[in-house]
Amino acid sequence: MEQKKVALVTGASRGIGRAVAARLAHAGYAVGVNYHERRDKADELVAALTASGCKAIAVQADVSVRAEVDAMVRRVEEAFGPVTLLVSNAGVAGQALFQDVTDELWERYFAVNLNGARHCIQAVLPHMLHEKAGCIVTVSSIWGQHGASCEVTYSCTKHALIGLTRSLAMELAPSGIRVNCVAPGVINTDMVQVLGSETLHDLAGQTPLGRLGTPEDIAAAVAFLASDDASFITGQVLTADGGFIG
Ligand code: NAP
Repeated sequence: MEQKKVALVTGASRGIGRAVAARLAHAGYAVGVNYHERRDKADELVAALTASGCKAIAVQADVSVRAEVDAMVRRVEEAFGPVTLLVSNAGVAGQALFQDVTDELWERYFAVNLNGARHCIQAVLPHMLHEKAGCIVTVSSIWGQHGASCEVTYSCTKHALIGLTRSLAMELAPSGIRVNCVAPGVINTDMVQVLGSETLHDLAGQTPLGRLGTPEDIAAAVAFLASDDASFITGQVLTADGGFIG
């Protein structure tokens, strides 16, 4: 049956995307829970949401591959109707000295973090343009706002996502479509475990609010930007970092 509020959240099997998908589902959205490899995690989330009366389906796609993204969007549309809210969250990160960055690493990060967003946005836009309504939230990073030593590639992709957000917001505003971005600080997910518990403890200590962020902290920021309370907000970057970058 066609639903009024349909969200597609990329990278929703784990971490931030998972919390965003859950939050939106409980707010009344029918949600497409995108995963890449962790079908088990996506299925587990969908089962939990469905058991609590929410509407959700798991949809596989590598967001760097346009054909997979197009097929994913079609699956969500068949299940629930056209996507009214896209949360472009899927991302990859890692640390390397710049002189060690290979072409393969550089291209993969851009393919997932930036082209992934482009593919998803272009796949959901035709309906939004037709309806003259819709909402897009991208997920950048504080390293898209500031430099990050040993994360040049990641930081470049996240800076580019902010450029995409701001420019697209200008282009789509006359069509009634809002585009905003959330820039998380250090959020306690699988992505940052590579840093080790000691470094994470130090990072929490360096955060003015005295703790690492949770996926739910970011889900709340996304939910705000997606809500009617943000209906006059477009082209903005909402930093949610406990004060980390000041
Ligand atoms: P995470 O725990 O590593 O989870 C990454 C998610 O992205 C997983 O659901 C994964 O799917 C999915 N994914 C990865 N590559 C994909 C691809 N090619 N196609 C589709 N999905 C893909 O990461 P996270 O910490 O939640 O981060 C989510 C977003 O927030 C990212 O864009 C990240 O850059 C950003 N961010 C995170 C932090 C942080 O401190 N954690 C800070 C700032 C910004 P599978 O599990 O199915 O493979």
